[in-house]
Amino acid sequence: MKSEREREAHSRFVQALQHEHVICTKAGCGGPMQVTDHTPHNGKVKKYEAECEQCHAVEQITGKEEHAPPWDIASITMMAEIHLLHEQPTCPYDDTPITFISLPNPRRKARYRLLCYYCGRHTEMNWPPPEAKR
Ligand SMILES: [Zn+2]
Ligand SMILES: [Zn+2]
Repeated sequence: MKSEREREAHSRFVQALQHEHVICTKAGCGGPMQVTDHTPHNGKVKKYEAECEQCHAVEQITGKEEHAPPWDIASITMMAEIHLLHEQPTCPYDDTPITFISLPNPRRKARYRLLCYYCGRHTEMNWPPPEAKR
């Protein structure tokens, strides 16, 4: 996170991602915005379009794709541990809430896909990870 403007854009992105209310930023408006997900199929970075129900201003709310440096194994393990405690892990690079998808698996082990819809970083992992086995 760099400028105030980027922080603001990121917090609007998180509101859209978590289906929270997004409020129009036009001076003197402050109306509720209708958010539509325009993410392409298999898109790794979410793209939303918000339209103000009051003044009909349209705003694009999108992530900022960035893949380098990738998540390291320590941060992936940490995100999984937080998830298993039923809390919300966030991307270590941009503080965006991580999305967990349980994948079907033939061997009855937990397998997850982890996605950050803001930067597009993603990975798949088995749980427990091999290095945690004793
Ligand atoms: Zn408005
Ligand atoms: Zn991220």
